Amino acid sequence: MRTLRPQILFPLFAAVTGLPGIGPRNAKLVESLAGPHLVDLLWHLPREIVDRRYSPKITEAPEGRVVTLTVKVDAHFPSHDKRKPYKVRCSDDSGFLTLVFFHARGDYLERLLPVGETRVVSGRIEHFGGEIQMAHPDHIVPLEEADSIRRVEPVYPMTAGLSPKTLGKAVAAALAKAPDLPEWLDPAFRQKRHWASWLESLRAAHAPEEEGALSPLTRMRERLAYDELLANQLALALIRATQRRLPGRSVAGHGALREKVIAALPFSLTTSQETALGEIYADMKAPSRMLRLLQGDVGSGKTVVALLAMLNAVEAGGQAALMAPTELLARQHYASIAPLARAAGIEIAVLTGRDKAADRRRTLEGLADGSIDVVLGTHALFQESVEFKDLMMAVIDEQHRFGVHQRLDLAAKGRGVDMLVMTATPIPRTLMLTAYGDLENSRLTEKPPGRQPVDTRIVPLIRIEETIEGIGRAIAKGARAYWVCPLVSESEVTDMAAAEARYAELAARFGDRVALVHGQMKPAEKDTAMLRFAEGAAQILVATTVIEVGIDVPEATIMVIEHAERFGLAQLHQLRGRIGRGAAASTCLLLYGQPLTEAARARLEIMRQTEDGFVIAEKDLELRGAGELLGVRQSGMPEFRLADIGMHGELLAVARDDAKLILARDPELKSDRGQALKTLLYLFERDAAVLTLRSG
Ligand code: ADP
Ligand code: MG
Repeated sequence: MRTLRPQILFPLFAAVTGLPGIGPRNAKLVESLAGPHLVDLLWHLPREIVDRRYSPKITEAPEGRVVTLTVKVDAHFPSHDKRKPYKVRCSDDSGFLTLVFFHARGDYLERLLPVGETRVVSGRIEHFGGEIQMAHPDHIVPLEEADSIRRVEPVYPMTAGLSPKTLGKAVAAALAKAPDLPEWLDPAFRQKRHWASWLESLRAAHAPEEEGALSPLTRMRERLAYDELLANQLALALIRATQRRLPGRSVAGHGALREKVIAALPFSLTTSQETALGEIYADMKAPSRMLRLLQGDVGSGKTVVALLAMLNAVEAGGQAALMAPTELLARQHYASIAPLARAAGIEIAVLTGRDKAADRRRTLEGLADGSIDVVLGTHALFQESVEFKDLMMAVIDEQHRFGVHQRLDLAAKGRGVDMLVMTATPIPRTLMLTAYGDLENSRLTEKPPGRQPVDTRIVPLIRIEETIEGIGRAIAKGARAYWVCPLVSESEVTDMAAAEARYAELAARFGDRVALVHGQMKPAEKDTAMLRFAEGAAQILVATTVIEVGIDVPEATIMVIEHAERFGLAQLHQLRGRIGRGAAASTCLLLYGQPLTEAARARLEIMRQTEDGFVIAEKDLELRGAGELLGVRQSGMPEFRLADIGMHGELLAVARDDAKLILARDPELKSDRGQALKTLLYLFERDAAVLTLRSG
């Protein structure tokens, strides 16, 4: 992406490899922990402190406490047995302190702690075998250098393999390079909040003096959180404004195609679907551009709503496109929509990255000359070679996999394209705001009639044998079951191994009635496995969370989730949504490993109690806080580094209003404050939003 990042921010976007102590190996660790740039280290705030200010006499130093002592070195007691530690006896006028070192190098310790000299040592006190000890002091310095020991040390969230000292130094070095940035907050507002400048707040947040300073509700942390939220809200408002600025069109079809499709449906629309359609038609008819979110649980019937909305555009003489996050989903949409589209007598095509050249050429021609009315596809629809005769309406089946700028790309393929964004992840209202600003939204709150509630049971993993036997009985009667394997680690490779092991075990019992699908498989292999399951050739589909998105097999009535306690609520809900789609009763078995934390138990209990995605989403936010929502993290919802939506909800609302006001007064961000706000947007890497400004 083209970026016009202001020069003042250049140092912060340098790679962490330039920092002292950060070679290629450590850089990888820092990157996975915080991020690739210096700025990422600024956002890496301390989680704890080590307070070294307490300096008692040796005999007054309490067990377990970190203290800084001034002592005289009396004698060294090297160890001749590798399993025994090297000891150094020290003293002050109150008594003795033994410094304890395992696997020590004697010559090094003799230089560090010369007998007869005074040293300042800092570390944790232990009482052991009648001695007052300090094992591996964190600091040992001569008296003259006592000041070099930081009295209160910040402790940062860590990752294995990276030493706290190295990380601490890197953060300090990054902080030292942080420039004083022009103020982007309204002065009166800042004063009212008693907030310091960005740089002062940042430095203070990294130098907590007390436990209390670690709270997200301190002035400095609030200021930083607000900056992040303001960048988020301003970016959304800018993108929104751009979309409003582009001229829209009034789209109102004659209704004949929609009538045919509705007549061909084997069911009647739910009230929710009717209401949503009413809102969508009204938006399309309005001369401005539609930008509406259609939220509805898995299985709530969004597809037919999208189809009718697209037909409205076709009736009005235009074309419509539906973009899905994956190839599989695009094809699935095609499979369900194509028969209905044919009933209405319209031309429909699929466009993905995997089409054969000849098919692709035909589709591109049909889109350009207008003979294709509706196209379903993946992000391949964005490509420059794709031209429409007259794209009027775009539906994005989002599942949160697309960024905002991608929506813009698709919109740019037509004049005043109306946009409908569909999402199956129920999003709590506060999070809605962070992901979509104040986008209009329609919610499908009722399920289509005839669905039976899913019987959800919580089962300890030790009963897995019984579970497998139960599944054996069910598939003997023709049932189809999903078996979801846990997230073992951050790495897909290990997840795959777990799924493969489970697959091998089940296949040994049930033979080729078991299929396997995971994220590392080639798309074609994945499709084959899913297809075998959809057709019933396979009756057990062992999967990693790849099935979370979209697959639709109404005949499947069993869902087993192994180590359900490791999943977030949103994700469990998405997974469970794969069953209970047909008329037959369904069962969801949540297998949990022990010990079960309180929070995990609460999550599973909620799953047992309700199937309402909106309720589950709110509970999830309550239980874990936005930053922890696993479903959210994986979904591409904005992740905040400094703001905690659970704690800073009030600031989010203020930021939203602030952003509105800013753009009302200075839509191009041309004033001095506007320029500073641009810097803020770049600071939080909202470059795409800045690029929507005509002035760049
Ligand atoms: P979503 O995309 O919201 O997950 P779908 O649109 O795939 O849900 O719909 C799920 C299933 O429900 C489909 O098989 C669809 O044909 C069916 N369906 C949709 N609307 C209704 C309705 N009003 N009554 C009965 N079944 C419906
Ligand atoms: Mg769908």
